[in-house]
Amino acid sequence: MGTDTGTGAVTARRAASAPDSAPEPSTAAAPAPGLYDQAGRQINCLRLSVTERCGFGCIYCTGGRSHGCRRDDLPLEEILTLARGAALAGCTRIRLTGGEPLERVDLPEIIRGLAELPGITSLGLTTNGCRLAAAARELADAGIRDVNVSLDSADPGVLRQITGRSCLDQILAGIEAALEAGCRVKINTVLLKGLNDDPGSIHDLADLIFRHPLDLRFIELMPADREDFSHERYFAPAEAVFRALPGLVPAEDESQNAPARNYVLKGARGRIGIISPVTRKFCRTCNRIRITADGMLRPCLLSRREFPLRGLTSEEVAKIIRDAVSCKPREHRLTAGCGGSSGQSMPGGRRPDRIRDNNDRHLSRGSAGSGGCNVTARQSVNRNGCGNGNESGNRIRNGTDNEPAGSPDDSSVRLAMGRIGG
Ligand code: SAM
Ligand code: SF4
Repeated sequence: MGTDTGTGAVTARRAASAPDSAPEPSTAAAPAPGLYDQAGRQINCLRLSVTERCGFGCIYCTGGRSHGCRRDDLPLEEILTLARGAALAGCTRIRLTGGEPLERVDLPEIIRGLAELPGITSLGLTTNGCRLAAAARELADAGIRDVNVSLDSADPGVLRQITGRSCLDQILAGIEAALEAGCRVKINTVLLKGLNDDPGSIHDLADLIFRHPLDLRFIELMPADREDFSHERYFAPAEAVFRALPGLVPAEDESQNAPARNYVLKGARGRIGIISPVTRKFCRTCNRIRITADGMLRPCLLSRREFPLRGLTSEEVAKIIRDAVSCKPREHRLTAGCGGSSGQSMPGGRRPDRIRDNNDRHLSRGSAGSGGCNVTARQSVNRNGCGNGNESGNRIRNGTDNEPAGSPDDSSVRLAMGRIGG
């Protein structure tokens, strides 16, 4: 285990106060000054999946099945060791995701532990919102400042069709509770053709930004290579939003670094965001790495390369993160409408291939030539475990995976969103 046991950066007290100001930077000891990849991007944000479990079964994420899990979640201490390593490597922001993070009863404890890590200045949560109403105050007191709530429709029947659950009232109550607890709230809506891309559905959702000070972000569906879900059938372009809301005006404080293009609507208290991961990719400004619910590091969500972190000290985790970030692809190669088995897609129903180190534990320092990745990885692994409930097992590819740093991953992506976190 790591030896760093600093005092808190984001204390519960700070989290509960001053809802509109960002938490102050830590003055405590000494994480790395900054983590940069070979494309010059600063990597400061960790998406940390704390469980694969989720009681929902969103059609695009699980093909409609809720994810039970045969494998246990990582215990609190292991999660803190991994996060401490990320902080040591230079991450300053952590967003908790899943699966559904609120499936974990010890979520407040996890958050309190993360808030104490030196160098962590921002803690966020992505949730389906179903259990948020009862938990929001405690989560905010623990240190959560930003909450993203997934809500794909304001129509209870359509929402049930998408998520498999009757949950609209609970989600709306959760959103209000998070706002009342002083959190910044964003709603994430995945655009789905024939389900929520018509003007009426978009207006109903947009009504929320007139009633509450929150941002509503429409996200284009990413391709999923699942037999039980057709990307072609459900993909709806972001233009549907512009058609439904012709009064949208680009926000003045538009950040070039955000994945969302933000717009304002006259009279609204919050903004509309458009996120087009495929047709208008934002890889150039990507600042993220991910750790999966089973302790694997993913330098890029949309690359299948991943590195095992379990059992390592925080210092070892930090070292692997620094090395692995040097392999972060410059951009993904997903293309719209590319579902099916031809590659360059985002199969949600299978476990991702694992690309692991030569010793099946520590990454060996190798060389891929000048400008190449300094981590030598080898694919192996044929674990049993849980993904989104219907995985068909790992695939094994032979050989090394010394992709030149900065080049796109040329292999098909095996992605289980519930495991990796969106
Ligand atoms: N359960 C939580 C939730 O639903 O917010 C956190 C995990 S979920 C995997 C994170 C986000 O990924 C959600 O906002 C979800 O809508 C999004 N997501 C999942 N599959 C997606 C896909 N194929 N395309 C676009 N967004 C997707
Ligand atoms: Fe839906 Fe999130 Fe659960 Fe996936 S993890 S099924 S997106 S609620």
